[in-house]
Amino acid sequence: MNDKIISIKDLDLSNKKVFIRCDFNVPQDEFLNITDDRRIRSVIPTLRYCLDNNCSVILASHLGRPKEINSKYSLEPVAKRLSRLLNKEVLMAKDVIGQDAKNKANNLKPTEILLLENLRFEKGETKNDEHLAKELASMVDVYINDAFGVCHRGHASVEAITHFFDIEHRAAGFLLLKEIEFSHNLIKHPARPFVAVVGGSKVSGKLQALTNLISKVDKLIIGGGMAFTFLKAKGVDIGNSLLEEDLIEEAKNILTRGKELGVKIYLPVDVGVALSCTQDAIMKYVPIQEIPSGWMGLDIGPASVRLFKEAFADAQTIWWNGPMGVFELDKFSKGSIKMSHYISETYATTVVGGGDTADVVARSGDTDEFTFISTGGGASLELIEGKELPGVKPLRIKVNE
Ligand code: AMP
Repeated sequence: MNDKIISIKDLDLSNKKVFIRCDFNVPQDEFLNITDDRRIRSVIPTLRYCLDNNCSVILASHLGRPKEINSKYSLEPVAKRLSRLLNKEVLMAKDVIGQDAKNKANNLKPTEILLLENLRFEKGETKNDEHLAKELASMVDVYINDAFGVCHRGHASVEAITHFFDIEHRAAGFLLLKEIEFSHNLIKHPARPFVAVVGGSKVSGKLQALTNLISKVDKLIIGGGMAFTFLKAKGVDIGNSLLEEDLIEEAKNILTRGKELGVKIYLPVDVGVALSCTQDAIMKYVPIQEIPSGWMGLDIGPASVRLFKEAFADAQTIWWNGPMGVFELDKFSKGSIKMSHYISETYATTVVGGGDTADVVARSGDTDEFTFISTGGGASLELIEGKELPGVKPLRIKVNE
């Protein structure tokens, strides 16, 4: 007995009214212009498939973290962008389950698209509220989840809503299926050598992932702020660099476990240091043995970049999650940008775990060079940690194969 995720392809969709939970949580500038529409474009295959099946389609998503109804968090700009990408009208509801949404949903004709307002304008969304879920479900015949980025959250439009559809009327969309398949293959059948490149601010945020990965990878490269807890565990004087004192023991355990398993672990050998984390700070590169007291490491140095490049020269699979430095400031972004270039230049299957790392790759101009860039940082990390996502669990069924 195996299990599988119910695919949108398994359902009879023709002429149905379909609800698609999307992840339209896109970045916007101060004028509310969408600065990166990758998440909107990612849902288009599922959307087109529904339209080709003569469905009327209701789309829903959250955007940001509004505490109450606030026009700043309206999905109106998303409706406009989607309409432009599809070259087709996208109707916009003024609310989520209010009169306007219900009227428009009722009158929706085959091949028409309606986008509901920000799901988080309803307090019940983050509380996995059954009433909200029921109201949303009552608008349609079929539920499709294509919002990988929120599948690690038990929210009403992700989890509770699935209670109102049987297995012939609920499924995963193409984006969600692709995300799950990539993570699954990565962990279960990676082409070897398999190299994980992990960075970002904290060990605590990625401890579970590191613990799970250590028995699966051939090489582990650790950069970013979290590297300093490991360096400290090895007795290096790290100055004022980011340190999680209470995790030094855990860091030691990971290093020891790596040694036992024959996993090659790489840490930075030099760092860009500054007295403050600001763009105008004076910065210099020093070997890690020479971090001056009072200074902090904010990027990996050129020798580390070179070393890491050597380490993934023979890689067949590379998974990358977490920047190598404070990439938001140009001054400390060089290590991350170089890593993006070098990883994308390999002939390995290259997978980026979303979030900040996807931003680094986009800023480096390498997006098209990677095999797969996940649309969900948190969700992708939880999959690597080996967890079952609350949004995916209800879409899984047992099959005889
Ligand atoms: P995370 O959310 O844990 O993946 O961390 C991403 C954040 O880590 C980014 O905002 C980076 O600015 C930050 N970061 C990366 N390297 C460092 C460092 N050396 N010191 C402090 N913060 C860092």
